Amino acid sequence: MKKYFVFLLLCFVPQILMASTQINGLRVWTGPDDTKAVIDISAQVDYKLFQLSNPPRVVVDIENTKLNKNLNLKENPVINKIRKGKKGKDTLRLVFDLSSEHKAKSFLLKPAKQYGHRLVIQLEKNKIKKKTVKQVLNKKDRDIIIAVDAGHGGEDPGASGASGTREKNITLQIAKRLVTAIDKEPGMKAVLIRTGDYYLALEKRYKKAREKQADLFVSIHADAFTDPKVHGMSVYILSKRGATSEAAKWLEQSENNSDLVGGVVLEDKDNVLAKVLLDLSQNASLEASLKSAEKVLAALKQIEKPHKKYVERANFVVLRSPDVPSMLIETAYISNPEEEKRLKTKDFQQKLANSIKDGIKSYFYQSPPPNTWIANHVKSTKHTVASGDTLGAIAEAYKVSMWDLKKINNKTSNTIMVGEVLLLPKIIP
Ligand SMILES: [Zn+2]
Repeated sequence: MKKYFVFLLLCFVPQILMASTQINGLRVWTGPDDTKAVIDISAQVDYKLFQLSNPPRVVVDIENTKLNKNLNLKENPVINKIRKGKKGKDTLRLVFDLSSEHKAKSFLLKPAKQYGHRLVIQLEKNKIKKKTVKQVLNKKDRDIIIAVDAGHGGEDPGASGASGTREKNITLQIAKRLVTAIDKEPGMKAVLIRTGDYYLALEKRYKKAREKQADLFVSIHADAFTDPKVHGMSVYILSKRGATSEAAKWLEQSENNSDLVGGVVLEDKDNVLAKVLLDLSQNASLEASLKSAEKVLAALKQIEKPHKKYVERANFVVLRSPDVPSMLIETAYISNPEEEKRLKTKDFQQKLANSIKDGIKSYFYQSPPPNTWIANHVKSTKHTVASGDTLGAIAEAYKVSMWDLKKINNKTSNTIMVGEVLLLPKIIP
């Protein structure tokens, strides 16, 4: 009896003491500035990270941990290989072989949405100091710059539809179409903020727009709600007092949680002065945000039923640019099976892109910033085509060139239709 008891102790005690954490998966996301390797762990861990060069590699020692399954690394431009080993008895060693020198950072993420505990290894490219080109704004006849942001990305898939459509992919497809539509317009130029499948912190998105000296920031999303019948698009601007409706409050939470899901650690430590300055300049750009958002909502109403008839307000982090008018568009409900299906079609995506572009265009033609091509070349008065009008006759009547008339109306042919509203070029002395 006694012997048996000792035997039991020998068998079970070491295992109880060794209660180990498990690694259950790996995802790697590569963007233009960094690569994030996200490791799924069953609980919080203690770990050490260090770097070695020649060849460049990152070593992570994770205590009391074992691999539950093999880490499946897909082809990646930064991480060539991940090797596993043991250090001492219970410490798991992972070695990341890199293609070139990178600066490694790491942090733990708590469970959020579909994910449990995660350990994130962030590999930053060694930055070559970029020469900043400023003073673009003083250039005569400059283009109006629109920053187009595709919501979510990488580790953060955003909302999902019943048939598995992911918001992050839909938003990028629509955003790319919007960029193309804007770039076809004379006097307008688009900048794509997220260019691939990686996560970009919310704050970085509007900072990038400011760096590019954008005149407007537009963030593209697709909505989700617990009730699959809810449908329609919505246009939001920033509210500093919280959301205007219950649904907006819910949405505000889920959009702002993106940073927790997407795998970033917020660096800012609540700078009071910065906040005060931000508030001051934000008031001025809110007015422009509202006007441009109203134009976009009106244009979208032509193709789709709105969820709300007016521009809504919510406290979205991504809209907090102090001096760039900003809006967020929930293009449709991905949680509504019919809208999910439509969101995937080229036709609907293109219609959305064209309408958003039309709304933006109509806003800037009404209130163009000074020194822009639109301000310098387009008259505020317009001509409505009457029956019997020809493009040539209109050009003659206003003493403008056919070429200018066609260019500002973005026309490739001489066809005009009765009732069509034509913009008129300014005559430059
Ligand atoms: Zn979203």
